[in-house]
Amino acid sequence: MHAAVYTGNGRIEVQRVPVPVIGSGELLVRVEACGICHTDIKKVEHNLLPPPRIYGHETAGVVVACGDGVTKFKPGDRVVAFHHIPCRNCFYCERKLYAQCDVYKKVGITAGFEPAGGGFAQYIRVMDWIVRDGVEIIPDGVSFEAASFVEPVNTCVKAVDQVKPRPGDVALVQGQGPIGLIFTMLLKRLGCTVVATETMPARQALSLKLGSTETHDPRKINIPSRMKELTCGRGADLVIGAVSATGVVDEAVRATRPGGTILLFAQTSDTERIELSGADICKHERTLAGCYSASIDLQAESARLVFSGELPVEELVSHRLPLGEIQRGIEIALRPAGHSLKVMVQPQRIA
Ligand SMILES: [Zn+2]
Ligand SMILES: [Zn+2]
Repeated sequence: MHAAVYTGNGRIEVQRVPVPVIGSGELLVRVEACGICHTDIKKVEHNLLPPPRIYGHETAGVVVACGDGVTKFKPGDRVVAFHHIPCRNCFYCERKLYAQCDVYKKVGITAGFEPAGGGFAQYIRVMDWIVRDGVEIIPDGVSFEAASFVEPVNTCVKAVDQVKPRPGDVALVQGQGPIGLIFTMLLKRLGCTVVATETMPARQALSLKLGSTETHDPRKINIPSRMKELTCGRGADLVIGAVSATGVVDEAVRATRPGGTILLFAQTSDTERIELSGADICKHERTLAGCYSASIDLQAESARLVFSGELPVEELVSHRLPLGEIQRGIEIALRPAGHSLKVMVQPQRIA
């Protein structure tokens, strides 16, 4: 089969590799769509993990073979598969901090080499603990590319669930890339007034369509002042950082009212430093929260939001590329311009 193999030094090459062999309790899935996620891009760009690896973890496809003992699925089933599933037994799982569970951190889907998601390949092997809890059937009439959003939607549902906005809250979402737009849709659904920041005009327009009441280029308008204007001088009840750039967290804190919550979603860098005064948090009683990855408890709800069409996620897809153009896809996702948004890889097409 063909696979886009990360070969080190920021490079991905399409190579011929063996179709994965499955064992008992496992599935072989033919990949029909896999979204490019920023965490994959980071791992490639910054060479975070040793090569060779096959990335891609927003994966939808068709079951082509089942290992012994698999009863939940059969060949022909259309499925989405999560690459991380927690043990549900450890210290962190008991506290629902699934992303900190050691089993969760183990990647349970591979297309070969060290398991890394494998969605940028024509076939994936889904390991037994993922088959048990991390595979959802795609209903008829739902496209593979829509279904591939179940994982990223889950990460956003988890973050929103963590900060529990109230109807009527004024929320600021910084950045209207695919993730920021999902946040906008989710917060709007919950009855929040959503203000968004975004520098790209096409994304601003889509943001307004999908639920924000206003979007601003943060280079052109003072966002904390605007949030205060909208809230009798208080500031936003909730700010979600859905973009990573210098000054984003500072802006988030200044835009948040006393007692409000700042949720860092895109601030995954080990090297980025954030400078705040103690009073920003202590005296003004703000909550600075972080959220990472998905929650198994919200998997069914995330699938429902996508499969029902309640979240029109297909609107977020700007590019559908064959496997052979994945390097270009990464460039597009890394340096968005014009109308570019979510880049979908369709591994059954090579060129
Ligand atoms: Zn991701
Ligand atoms: Zn655990």
